Parts: sequence; C-alpha cells; structure tokens
Amino acid sequence: MLDVIDRQMRSKSYGLAFDAELEERFEDDTREKRVRDIRRTIVLGLVVFHIYNVAGFVTTPDLALLNLGLRIFGMTPLALLIIWAVGRVDGPVREAIGGIGMLAATGIPILIFWMGTGPLVSLTTATIWLSVLFANITLPLRFFWACFVSSITAVAVLAGLYLKPEIAASVGGVLGLDMVTGILFSLVATYRIESANRRDYLVNLRETLRANRLAADNTTLVHLSSTDPLTGIANRRAFARELGEFWEASLSGRHFAVMLIDIDHFKLFNDYYGHGAGDTCLREVSGILAKTAAGSGAFVARYGGEEFAVLIHTRDPDEAHGLAERFRRSVAEKGLLHGNRNDDLDFVSVSVGVSTSCGMAASSSALIEAADRALYEAKGKGRNQTCRNGMPGNDEAGLPKCMMVAHWSVTDERPIARAS
Ligand code: GH3
Ligand code: MG
Ligand code: MG
Repeated sequence: MLDVIDRQMRSKSYGLAFDAELEERFEDDTREKRVRDIRRTIVLGLVVFHIYNVAGFVTTPDLALLNLGLRIFGMTPLALLIIWAVGRVDGPVREAIGGIGMLAATGIPILIFWMGTGPLVSLTTATIWLSVLFANITLPLRFFWACFVSSITAVAVLAGLYLKPEIAASVGGVLGLDMVTGILFSLVATYRIESANRRDYLVNLRETLRANRLAADNTTLVHLSSTDPLTGIANRRAFARELGEFWEASLSGRHFAVMLIDIDHFKLFNDYYGHGAGDTCLREVSGILAKTAAGSGAFVARYGGEEFAVLIHTRDPDEAHGLAERFRRSVAEKGLLHGNRNDDLDFVSVSVGVSTSCGMAASSSALIEAADRALYEAKGKGRNQTCRNGMPGNDEAGLPKCMMVAHWSVTDERPIARAS
C-alpha cells in the first residue's frame, strides 16, 4: 500500500481519482465525514435557499408564488430525501445524488428566470450563480459534478440572456460574462479543494502506515532480541532481565528458585551423532522443559550452549527441589537416545542445580553461583540428578525455609517459556 501511495503522490497527472485500490480505501476512510459534511451543508443551503423566497417577490413578483411553491414543496422534500439517502449509498452514487440535487436547486431559479417577464428579471441570474457557488465551494461537489452542474447552468442562463427580449444585449453580455467568470473561479476552487483533501488524506495515510510498520518492526526486534534462535525459547538476555525482576520481587518477600539445567555428556552426543543431531537434541530438550514449565509460572531460558535456566516463584527450598526434579525427570522420561555416554545410561539426561532466594544470597549473581555450585555437585555425583545449594553457611540438610511471605505460590501468573 505504501508503494501505491508513493506512486500516487509522485504522479504528475491532473486527474483527481486515485488508483482503484486506493480510491476504495479513501472512500472507506472518509465516507463518514463526507456524509456528515454533506448533510450539514445541505441544511445550511436550505435555510439560505428559503431566504431567497423574499428576493423572488422583488425580481419576479408575477411568479413569486410559483417560486415559493417550488422551493417549499419541490426542493425542500428533495433536500430532505438527499439528506436521508447520502448515508445509504455507495460513494459514486452519493456524489451523483449531490450533483443532481444541486442541478434541481439551480433549476428552480433558472425556470423562474426563463418564465419571468418583469424589468428586473435579469437580477435572477445572480441567484442562479450563487447556487452554483454554493455547489462548487461550500458543499463542495466533486469536481466532475461541479463541472456538470456549472456547464448546464451556464448554458441555460446564457441562452436565457440571449433570447429574452426584455434584456438588452449589452446588459445580457455583462451579466453573462460575470456569471461565467464567477463559475470558472469557483471551479478552480473546487479542483483545489478536492486535490488538497486527497493529498492530505494520502499524507496522513502514509504516516499512519509507516508508524504501524515501525511498531510492528519494533515488536519483531524486541522478540528477536530476547529469543534464542535455535530453540525459540527465551535467551540469556531475556533471562538476565527476568532474573532482575524476580530478584526485585524477592526483596519484598516474593521468593524464587533458580535452576541451572545442563545436558549430560553432550559433547559425546555431538561427537557421536553430529552437530545437526545435537541441535535437534537441544530443541527437543528445550521443548520438554518449556512444556514442563507451562502453567506453573516458571520462566525457562537457554542460558548458553547446552545449559538452560529456570526461574520459578517458590518460598520453600524443598518445594524448589521438587520442582527441579520434575524438570530433570521430564527429560529422562522422554528417553531420547544417547548411545555414546561413558556411564551406564543410554538416554539423554540433564543434571540440575537449584538455589533459592530465601537463603542468604546477597545478589542475584550470588544466587546463580549457588545454583552453579549445586549443578557441579550433581555432575560430580554421577549426573542425571538434582542438587540444591544453600548459600555459604547453609548446609544442605539445614536449608532454611522461607517464613517471610506465605501467600505466593508457584501457580502465580508469570511469563512462561516460549517453546518453538
Ligand atoms: P557434562 O555432562 O559434564 O556437562 O559434559 P558435556 O559434554 O555436556 O559438557 P561440555 O561442556 O564438555 O560440552 C558441551 C558441549 O555442548 C560442547 C559443545 O560442542 C556443545 N554445544 C554447545 N552449544 C551447542 C549448540 O548450539 N549446538 C550443538 N550441537 N552443540 C553445542
Ligand atoms: Mg555445560
Ligand atoms: Mg553438559
């Protein structure tokens, strides 16, 4: 669409209509306002139109009653019908209705002018081209319809000026020149108004579309910058951000656990099955972890290489340990083949290290270090197992329970992992 707009804006053509697709959108976007403007302007026009009933008594007193009747019983219901109809038809029909309505409104003074015989009948021409000015500038009609109404009116009035015996040729000539000049001036205005409206519309539409595209690009960038491309789950950058938020929450008592999850003997897996199979395995494991986390409020990220990290709200180290076990078991139970381990297992397994914020950690990085020590311990104890680590001073048996805030639970809403 932006290309179409640019092409349209660069176009040197004097034609006002857009390409079909753009024209359709222009109509959709501007219909409501256009209908409202037409309706309001017709009401204004109708008021002024009836004021000219008085003028009729001066210029053509012999036809004043006919003039009055046509305006009240002809034009008024027609104008009301137009007000009703313009909101119920397509754009081109609406504009045609406007044009034909204006032709009718101009037709009444033209008729009076043609039938009138008094000495002041020539003054009626002023009333006629004031109607044209209303049509071309105040309403304004679309340029095509303005030309249509203007030319028919001009021909009808010029013919009347020429043919009516009571109007001297010199007076008719001056009046005709005035009218044609006035109509031409107003047509230039009609063209400029429509052209400016359309250009404003294009500029606004282009800016709106560009802003939307920027917003969409931005969303994509934010997503890409926080997503691991191989596995589709959160990456280390997103993890660091999330860890900061979990840590902040823990300072007000909402405690959490950090798990570091490392695939066992993954180098041997790569050596045996190849790097491509290793990548597939990483995707499989991340999918299992994300699935296990789903609904628990846990946040799962790829921490780097064949290591994953999980953050989950819990206030109890035993509970944290139990949750970590769920992650370890979910991988082991999947039974992905690993035929190149140098222990007695033949499936892909992970080792997990857990630490909790309700220990004595002074910072989030101290918490990560504690989980890393626990992971190291799990590896040392033979892999495919979970170890938890208190902070220095908390031995494993005597891990402190968190007593500070009791109402948070692991089911509390947090962003969950995005599995690929
Ligand atoms: P441990 O049980 O002690 O963790 O042994 P390990 O072999 O899993 O650990 P090690 O650190 O020796 O090797 C990790 C391997 O993970 C080495 C590296 O090639 C592999 N790895 C890291 N990132 C990727 C990756 O994106 N794709 C693949 N296929 N392999 C990866
Ligand atoms: Mg590792
Ligand atoms: Mg490993």
